[in-house]
Amino acid sequence: MNKFEALGLEENLLKAIADMGFETPSDVQEKAIPILLEKDTDMVSLAQTGTGKTAAFGFPMLQKINIDSRTTQGLILSPTRELCLQITNEIKNYGKYCKGLNVVAIYGGASITDQARDVKRGAQIIVATPGRMKDMIGRRLVDISKIEYCVLDEADEMLNMGFYEDITEILSHSPEEKSTWLFSATMPREVSAIAKKFMHSPVEITVGGKNMGAENVSHEFYLVNARDRYQSLKRLADANPSIFSVIFCRTKRDTQKVAELLIEDGYSAAALHGDLSQNQRDMVMKSFRNRQIQMLVATDVAARGIDVENITHVINYQLPDEIETYTHRSGRTGRAGKTGVSIVIVSKSERRKISAIEKIIQKKFVQKDVPSGMEICEVQLFHLANKIKNTEINHDIDTYLPNINDVLEEFSKEELIKKVFSVEFTRFYNYYKKAKDLNISGDDYKEESKDSVRYFINIGERDDFDWMTLKDFLKDLLNLGKDDVYKVDVKESFSFFNTDTQHQEMVLSVFKDFQLEGRRVSVEISKDTGRRGGGERRGGRDRGGKRGDFKKRSDRRGSSDRGGNSDRGGSGDRDRGGSGEKSGFKGRSRRRDSSSSDNKGTGGRRRSRS
Ligand code: ADP
Ligand code: MG
Repeated sequence: MNKFEALGLEENLLKAIADMGFETPSDVQEKAIPILLEKDTDMVSLAQTGTGKTAAFGFPMLQKINIDSRTTQGLILSPTRELCLQITNEIKNYGKYCKGLNVVAIYGGASITDQARDVKRGAQIIVATPGRMKDMIGRRLVDISKIEYCVLDEADEMLNMGFYEDITEILSHSPEEKSTWLFSATMPREVSAIAKKFMHSPVEITVGGKNMGAENVSHEFYLVNARDRYQSLKRLADANPSIFSVIFCRTKRDTQKVAELLIEDGYSAAALHGDLSQNQRDMVMKSFRNRQIQMLVATDVAARGIDVENITHVINYQLPDEIETYTHRSGRTGRAGKTGVSIVIVSKSERRKISAIEKIIQKKFVQKDVPSGMEICEVQLFHLANKIKNTEINHDIDTYLPNINDVLEEFSKEELIKKVFSVEFTRFYNYYKKAKDLNISGDDYKEESKDSVRYFINIGERDDFDWMTLKDFLKDLLNLGKDDVYKVDVKESFSFFNTDTQHQEMVLSVFKDFQLEGRRVSVEISKDTGRRGGGERRGGRDRGGKRGDFKKRSDRRGSSDRGGNSDRGGSGDRDRGGSGEKSGFKGRSRRRDSSSSDNKGTGGRRRSRS
């Protein structure tokens, strides 16, 4: 008896499982499937991304629903449109031998009429994002009053994204006596609260945190100065010419910025984050799946759960705020038996986080050196050699060959090889010949302090701040991560705080014209340590809010050793906001189409705490 059969699954599902090539059930499948098949119970299941949760609830649901009926019996809620579509496809796949099965995806940004029509045809299972689902219930376009099974997938992420009320509203339209299955990677208070509220003595299962592919992922870190992050990223890309990777940044702004820099520098890159329209996100994902994009720069929310095959590298351009998020990120690679590398670019101040992650993933990181320019040249030359070797000859070239031969007649094979390779070599060589070593050695430690700016701000205890509330206030206002505002020191009528130098310009400009309860709040570089070019504010910035125009802000130092890799314009270009435009993935346009109430959700825009 096959191992899936032993779980109690029926023939038509087993056939699909065989087609998909699943051989052994994953942990969460092994634990959840028999229980869910056997009895009607609520369940809370803690399992990381990539552990095979979709099948863990998908198979039991498929087996238990009545396919001969057209009534909607199963509802699966998931946080993003991408995941919603992924789950829909997966369930359709699992159910391909269930004749008459109709699974419908419901999500914002696409025609509501089409979705309503699909539902009306009789969808036994609906997979939905909360925003659109709530909409459609409100307009009586779906009826979930008879569902028997409800799945809350990636529950922590849904709550993070502010879907609590939507979920409550949706579930209030569902019958009391159904089974609710909640899946989550982490169990913050909000998730236990929701479990308490909507579930009756759920069976709890926990899976040992191992990704399906975790075995195949190796973990590396590169220790560099914070200001060399981008250069290091480029070197890693150049040293891995066949890279196919997801690069994680912490904020939408950084995501967009890094993607734009990469595009300007001639890489096939694109950004994926919640400020893109759904259409743009679809385009990006499609190009990525087709491998027209080699480097997908993404926020955690946008890339959560995304299953793209054969990703070679996950790059943590910045470490996530929550260490647990690291597992989600690294789980994007090493899937389906392939090996993958999860890379972290760390600055000295973040070094200790590596050990914290090691504890969680129970694996050791290998510290690697950022490749030198010459190493990269070497890699690129071999890459070219192999590319030439493996290229199929295009015979459309034949007509031009006589003329080409004429031009090159005088050269021997050896000379030709030298010339061809010099084209590539010179390109990289010129770019890298003066490149410095980006690795931090022991005595670079002093460098760190230069990388940080101390500010003076004219609010303090008198304004009811202490260091924690001021830190929160600043990081929210500046849209920075938890660790990006530090050394907050609150005095009676003023305070000090630090950020990395890369944020200096942004910080100053946010406070250029800032008022708090009618009072002007000003921030200046503090005299003590602000030796790094204080005061040099660039004028004329119209800055509406947090969603800054990083185009202008983009860090010049970050781009200092660029300028060679291709024939793009000089360093001044970027400030005109020109060259990135051609990418087509600029993503400035905000989604405001009324059809999509998921808008609020997909980008974590509702995340702000109040
Ligand atoms: P999660 O929802 O936990 O992140 P998924 O359900 O998306 O994980 O599954 C991750 C990947 O693993 C998918 O590509 C899926 O097809 C595959 N998969 C799931 N179960 C198995 C299994 N038992 N054997 C092999 N591959 C599996
Ligand atoms: Mg999933």
